[in-house]
Amino acid sequence: MYTAIGYAAQSATAPLAPMTFNRRTPRPDDVAIDILYCGVCHSDIHQARNEWGIAVYPLMPGHEIVGKVTEVGANVTRHTVGDLVGVGCMVDSCRHCEACAADLEQYCLEGPTMTYATPDRVDGTNTMGGYSNSIVVSEHFVVRIPEKLNLAAAAPILCAGITTYSPLKHFGVKAGHKVGVLGMGGLGHMGIKFAKAMGAEVTLFTRSASKAEEARRQGADHVVVSTDAAQMKAAAGRFDFLLDTIPVQHDLNPYLETLRFDGVHILVGLIEPVDPALHAANLVMKRRVLAGSLIGGIAETQEVLDFCAEHDISCDIEMLDIKNINEAYTRMIAGDVKYRFVIDMATLKA
Ligand code: NDP
Ligand code: ZN
Repeated sequence: MYTAIGYAAQSATAPLAPMTFNRRTPRPDDVAIDILYCGVCHSDIHQARNEWGIAVYPLMPGHEIVGKVTEVGANVTRHTVGDLVGVGCMVDSCRHCEACAADLEQYCLEGPTMTYATPDRVDGTNTMGGYSNSIVVSEHFVVRIPEKLNLAAAAPILCAGITTYSPLKHFGVKAGHKVGVLGMGGLGHMGIKFAKAMGAEVTLFTRSASKAEEARRQGADHVVVSTDAAQMKAAAGRFDFLLDTIPVQHDLNPYLETLRFDGVHILVGLIEPVDPALHAANLVMKRRVLAGSLIGGIAETQEVLDFCAEHDISCDIEMLDIKNINEAYTRMIAGDVKYRFVIDMATLKA
């Protein structure tokens, strides 16, 4: 057993605070990792505060993990001590169902084991995430960080990156398509970069007029201020795809109206009921599709890391001292981060 330290929430209303706990001794197919950096995802806030109603406490968030391998189990073949590696949102799955066999572990029919707040498939203990100095993970769920990437800026690719890359690729975004990205936070700013790299004409829909300039720097060709009815109306019928990263309930109808016929509105931010209600006419009358997408499989997570190295794509990050994690949550909720906090785990030792 390893003694580990990290930051955890003890209840839905408690701030994150330091906690000492145990990480398992590596099993034959496990890799032990010394964590160097961990990104801060809005899902961490949803979970720490039990906004999805599935939290278990103590809850240690963090699923954008980059670190160095310190020990490997006897059967490990993919990684060796000293390798720079990443761990994203999942640490296990059943490995034999139809989804797992198709490299879509996120849709495992028995349910994937998430990196935090999920019972481990072997010993039943709740998984603890990456706001920590170490983690032990089965090698299948550990990816390689390409040498070209900056380690801290690579961390958010493990969730924000794969979650936006995977649906854009799955739904076939390519040159000539018009793609709208809804919300420019951690996911949204990566969505803009990927859609652009795939050749699309990209528009950011944002509440924050002040983000217009920066959106263009991220690669957006146009910006629509979503709170301006005139701008929304002018965008009607124009888009092939919308990638919706908004983390709260919002009216989908005005956005659906910006899609052309056969357009696809892809939800990644919302897992609550749609409220206000959807006008089915907004789908039916134009054969539009409302879709959703969950992170991406392990092979595709490696693919997006390699894609980022090849296309010189990285996340815009603000380095964070872990003792300021609660303030970081407040700033994220206010939309005040450019565009991902990444915890420097050296600050945990201090
Ligand atoms: P961030 O907080 O970094 O960004 C969200 C952005 O959405 C904000 O920057 C803001 O953009 C916009 N936004 C925020 N609040 C509102 C609001 N009240 N109304 C309208 N727009 C708003 O979040 P992340 O990018 O980390 O995550 C986004 C969502 O995606 C979260 O719900 C997260 O849980 C989910 N998620 C889903 C995954 C999946 O697999 N499907 C994986 C990872 C995360 P602007 O100021 O430009 O309007
Ligand atoms: Zn995430």
